[in-house]
Amino acid sequence: MAGTVLRGVTGSAGVALGPAFIVRETSSDAAPATALSGDPVQPASERARWQAARQRVSETYQRLAERARQIAGPQEAEILEAQEMMATDPELEEQVGTRIDHGATAEAATRVAIAQYADAMSAIEDPYIRQRADDVREIGQALLRALAGADPVPFAALPSGAVLCAETLAAGALILLDRERLAGLALGTGGPTSHIAILARTLNVPAVLGLGPFLDDLTEGTTIGVDGTRGEVYIDPSADQLQSLQQAVKDYAQERAEIASLVDQPAITPDGVHLELFANIGGPGDVASALAAGAEGIGLFRTEFLIAGRATLPTEEEQYQTYRTVLDAAGARPVIFRTFDIGGDKPVPALGLPPEANPFLGYRALRIGLDRTELLTTQFRAILRAAEGSHNAWIMLPMVATVEEVRQARALYAEARQGFSVQPPLGIMIEIPAAALNAEALAREVDFFSIGTNDLVQYTLAVDRLDERLTSLYQPFHPAVLRLIHMTAEAARAQGKHCGVCGEMGGDPEATALLLGLGVNELSMNAGALGSVKREVLRTPLADAHRLAADALACATAAEVREAIQVFRAAHATAG
Ligand code: PEP
Ligand code: MG
Repeated sequence: MAGTVLRGVTGSAGVALGPAFIVRETSSDAAPATALSGDPVQPASERARWQAARQRVSETYQRLAERARQIAGPQEAEILEAQEMMATDPELEEQVGTRIDHGATAEAATRVAIAQYADAMSAIEDPYIRQRADDVREIGQALLRALAGADPVPFAALPSGAVLCAETLAAGALILLDRERLAGLALGTGGPTSHIAILARTLNVPAVLGLGPFLDDLTEGTTIGVDGTRGEVYIDPSADQLQSLQQAVKDYAQERAEIASLVDQPAITPDGVHLELFANIGGPGDVASALAAGAEGIGLFRTEFLIAGRATLPTEEEQYQTYRTVLDAAGARPVIFRTFDIGGDKPVPALGLPPEANPFLGYRALRIGLDRTELLTTQFRAILRAAEGSHNAWIMLPMVATVEEVRQARALYAEARQGFSVQPPLGIMIEIPAAALNAEALAREVDFFSIGTNDLVQYTLAVDRLDERLTSLYQPFHPAVLRLIHMTAEAARAQGKHCGVCGEMGGDPEATALLLGLGVNELSMNAGALGSVKREVLRTPLADAHRLAADALACATAAEVREAIQVFRAAHATAG
């Protein structure tokens, strides 16, 4: 395999070089189907073994969730809590127990029950649930390891500077790893929106995912190069490859150091234009790291964590406490609260909604809020209460398609505001093409816009944002998307309204100059991206960005746009 280059997908940017540390799956086929001793299986003792293993897995995942909450934020913690719940799911216990009673070993019973559980999830059309099948398989691996007397989540032995190579990796495992020792990640599975990718980006670990089966011929300790920016993995690189990888690692380290030194600088272009750089958060635990990374405000607070996946609705008081915590932590900086963006990929058991044929086009987000108005008004009240004092709260409505929706929401907002002295601005997300096309009319109705490029790309190109098979068609740089962004920013500018971008594109340094040139005045992103985006702003005169945007708008394909950006960035790389 010497000198082989494997192509996968970008999980997390950056370059790493180091010895392979291979984590092979606990081969489920190797799990004994009958008692090893040759004696008949004793159901009682197998059940006891299984329960002990499940207990260890449960405790491990609880610890991991706690650690995740501290080092990565509530969203990551929730992933692990959900996995812990899978391990202790009574349904799983019943499935395993029945098989043990029929003479299977705990291992064999676990293997079959987990496979059925995961297969049932894989068969569900909802891509969100489909992705959870991987989480179930990971829990299955943890149970099998625990049954073998090993750590449910391994890796204590990770050597310093290693590149971890595995077929799959539980998000929990990445949390457990010593970041100082882990140089990079190469995985057979996973896509750009998988949990592991999000976590790798949060922790700044270069990662390539979706490589397919690649472990068979790989030996422990082989030198591996991971180019997370290009999505390439080098196995035992040739002398030439090694040289350029070493240079890339050096450049990457230098880039990180340079970026870290920009934390306290405002993002001002060489011709003196300030582009506000905000952070997206998923809960109160994310604010501190956002501010530490230099965020000037919170451009998107995804409040859904208070409601998604829960059996009961959050009360006004509970919401108030959460919102207050966030506002207190943000000080005088703006915090944009997005009202519940639920439905679609974010199911809400508390609402008992029936399954839909097209959840992304269905009963979701503001549509639910305008139908179940108590949900929206309770949230308005909780935000208004929290905003009293010297805070800077803004309120944003997701998934707006029409002017009428905005008017209805505004009327509810006016009612909710009675008796409050604070008046948070009310804005909308532009994430449905119709809203972008009608931005001029919408701008008259609202105080600000924030462009949700994740959904805008999905709806413009009719490409499910979660479907890994369609990754190549999911093109944020498609000229059609850029025209919609331009129309939106123009409409906002003409009426003196603020216009941000809070989708993933806002945190992509490749898109920074373009978005600046298209006319947006704020970018909101994962805190980890703030430094790289700021560096772009510092290098990009607004006048040049305008020219780039004009060129991009005249392109026919996303590939042409990317090419124009590459040329532009190369020419501006040393400025600033
Ligand atoms: C978006 O659609 O771009 C966005 C920011 O919202 P979400 O990713 O939460 O749908
Ligand atoms: Mg969205």
